[in-house]
Amino acid sequence: MTILVWIEQYNGVVVSSCWEVMGKAQALAAELGTSAAALVIGDGVDAIAQEAIGYGAATVYTASNPALAQYRLQPYAAAAAQALDAAGAAVFLTNATLRGGALAATVACSRDGGMAANVSDLRVEGGKLAATRAVYSGNILADITFGSELAVASVRPRSFPMPEARGMGGTVQALPVTLTESDIREKIVDFRAADTSEVSLTDAKIIVSGGRGVSADPAKGFALVGELADVLGAAMGASRAAVDAGFIPYKHQVGQTGKTVKPDLYIAAGISGAIQHLAGMGNSKIIVAINTDRDAPIFGKASYGIVDDLFAVLPALTEEFKKRLG
Ligand SMILES: Cc1cc2nc3c(=O)[nH]c(=O)nc-3n(C[C@H](O)[C@H](O)[C@H](O)COP(=O)(O)OP(=O)(O)OC[C@H]3O[C@@H](n4cnc5c(N)ncnc54)[C@H](O)[C@@H]3O)c2cc1C
Repeated sequence: MTILVWIEQYNGVVVSSCWEVMGKAQALAAELGTSAAALVIGDGVDAIAQEAIGYGAATVYTASNPALAQYRLQPYAAAAAQALDAAGAAVFLTNATLRGGALAATVACSRDGGMAANVSDLRVEGGKLAATRAVYSGNILADITFGSELAVASVRPRSFPMPEARGMGGTVQALPVTLTESDIREKIVDFRAADTSEVSLTDAKIIVSGGRGVSADPAKGFALVGELADVLGAAMGASRAAVDAGFIPYKHQVGQTGKTVKPDLYIAAGISGAIQHLAGMGNSKIIVAINTDRDAPIFGKASYGIVDDLFAVLPALTEEFKKRLG
């Protein structure tokens, strides 16, 4: 009953949340008396395979071919099916990114497997895998068990701690890739990288977020949020209300229909703390809320609260951090 984890990579760089899943897979495998394996798909993936061994994969299955250089669902699902057979895997895990979610669902469908999407916990119950996922805006946690032979789950980033790479022993097994470009229906016509100058929201250790509280002067409000974020080396987040109002693009949205984050420090400025926002950041280590309304629900979740106008507090914090951090 090997546990197989897909290691998502882009141009040779692994999406770090995959290692969180790998770490958890290793712990589950130890409990089940089996092993955790990894699957790396791409073109020239030897270095990533070694990294996966470092993070606890006993075997790394690689599918390497120029036709696999970029993620495409059809050939990636075919490679996953090959790896499942080679590993004799009973569990297939991905991270719950757009790509990971699509791959997990496709594999589950093609193998008649049970699928749990966006899970926040995995554990062993009665010798079998069980999962937890939030439903109804995080108001209810649903426990999921699998009746199928194959259990498939996509795991929300930041659900498990980042393991340390320890460089343990493991083997690499190359899968034969028979697909050629002409077999693949999906074609990549153009490729545009997003602006990568900003700190990534999901990986950030510090996030400064703004909400509808900037409404008096949205441009200035988010400029102040950005200035504090710059000084702290933080990523910029936002509530959905701020995104819907067009103050800031969707990629910054935190919450149920945005990104799930788990930074060491989350500063929420002018955000009321609706359940859908908390669903995305409620697990942050330290939450600092800045809000003019002392009864705002965010203060119920915050470690520190500042009851004041964000237009005064944000520049004051920026100045003070500038002095202290040089
Ligand atoms: C299905 C569904 C999914 C959703 N998904 C998300 C999601 O992913 N993320 C998300 O954020 N929301 C989501 N929402 C919306 C959510 O319910 C809230 O409407 C939203 O989070 C509110 O954003 P806000 O806190 O910025 O605005 P408000 O609730 O309007 O709060 C603004 C706050 O700013 C304070 N304020 C005003 N002026 C100042 C000032 N000058 N200085 C300091 N404070 C000030 C006010 O006191 C208030 O507390 C979702 C809703 C639904 C129904």
